[in-house]
Amino acid sequence: MRSPYDGAEVGRLPRPSAAQIDRAIVGAVSSFPKTRRLPTFERVEILRRIAQGIQAQKASLAQTIAREAGKPIRAARTEVERAVATFHAAASEVERHTGEVLPLDVNGASLGRWGVVRRVPIGPICAITPFNFPLNLSAHKVAPAIAVGAPIIHKPASQTPLSALALAEIVHEAGWPAEAYVVLPVSGADGEKLAIDPRLPIVSFTGSAEVGWKLKSLVSKKRVGLELGGNAAAIVHSDANLEDAVARSAAGGFGYAGQSCIALQRTLVHRSVFAAFRDALVARTKRLVAGDPLDEATEVGPMISTGDADRIERWLQEAMAQGAELLCGGKRKGNVIEPVVLARTKRTMRVECEEVFGPVVTLSPYDTFEEALERVNDTRYGLQAGLFTQDIDRIQQAFDTLEVGALIVNDVPTWRADRMPYGGVKDSGVGREGPAYAMDEFTEPRLLVFRS
Ligand code: NAP
Repeated sequence: MRSPYDGAEVGRLPRPSAAQIDRAIVGAVSSFPKTRRLPTFERVEILRRIAQGIQAQKASLAQTIAREAGKPIRAARTEVERAVATFHAAASEVERHTGEVLPLDVNGASLGRWGVVRRVPIGPICAITPFNFPLNLSAHKVAPAIAVGAPIIHKPASQTPLSALALAEIVHEAGWPAEAYVVLPVSGADGEKLAIDPRLPIVSFTGSAEVGWKLKSLVSKKRVGLELGGNAAAIVHSDANLEDAVARSAAGGFGYAGQSCIALQRTLVHRSVFAAFRDALVARTKRLVAGDPLDEATEVGPMISTGDADRIERWLQEAMAQGAELLCGGKRKGNVIEPVVLARTKRTMRVECEEVFGPVVTLSPYDTFEEALERVNDTRYGLQAGLFTQDIDRIQQAFDTLEVGALIVNDVPTWRADRMPYGGVKDSGVGREGPAYAMDEFTEPRLLVFRS
């Protein structure tokens, strides 16, 4: 099925009317009795066909991502591969997503009783996604929805609707009913109307903490998943492989210009290796190629908007006025900002305590490991953290202590595999994505009790 928006440039995309939005919701609701009964093998086949469809269009999807999101083309190709993996992971999970049998004869009064728990889809899902992974974050909503048999109404970011629209074509061609996956490129305000619509009992939101928590406060009766932002940190301990830690920190902090919710932002380095790490990171950062996302050599593309580039410049100036030291970067050409490494930052500076979502990494020395752990936790966010060390005791101590959704050992917090449970604590969100975990979020247990 062809999307009505096919080939249109983002700026010329027509916004759906109120009547079109209503028709889409009615269609999703009326398709639910059919999708929830789709047999296991059909859901698996549809998911596998979608994965193949994405793979077959890898080159054009990567171009779409690069053009609409300003993502360097090589990173855009990686995103397409990841979307393929996300659909395959969901297909594998369909057969594993079973319920349980419960013995209920726990006392004399319940003799002969036993139960069967099945997970059943709750209903049509309202999915809202951000600009930065326009294909794979759509996949993280759509794949688990199809896996459990739930229709989905999807509002993509206004800056990047084309990847989602291209995905919808692939999904429909794979055999999933057109009315059970509708992409509505509506405004944020209309997204809010979708989120509060009582006909869509689940809201699955990925985006900023500001919008996510506001939405949650508006929909107290709904199941809500929030995948929000952060100011992720990594600890580089004295026994770390420094060369490896430097290479990974540069990639984690500056890939896609830091526009990832788990981009490395705060780096805490043991004082004994601080100077060596700092010098090597600065040298590495200066070698990064910033510029046109369609150029094969580019590693750091533009900020998504002029407003965001302006904001980052302001935050940098503010930090330097408060004593931060600029070690490299910061020059601006259009919306491309040369990657920045900052030292002598304070916890209260916005480049530390807020989500920068740009190519800025701060470096701070620490003396004791406990001090580093405390500093990682000293934030309202808690998505992922990285830890470079060979010491199993310290790994265990960090795992016990850090308030995050995941601790990544010997890598930056930016690492993610699409099948793992992914999500945050504190202001970074509630619930987990990764197909198996999202399938739990999109379903509820239903119990059948037998008496024999
Ligand atoms: P955003 O401004 O919060 O927008 C996210 C989505 O919400 C967009 O589709 C946006 O639509 C929509 N929206 C805006 N206002 C809304 C409202 N009142 N009601 C309903 N929907 C509304 O975030 P962004 O700038 O696109 O993305 C960056 C943020 O996403 C960062 O904070 C980043 O950390 C976070 N993120 C988190 C994860 C994760 O998995 N934890 C992954 C990626 C990104 P419009 O575009 O039309 O405004």
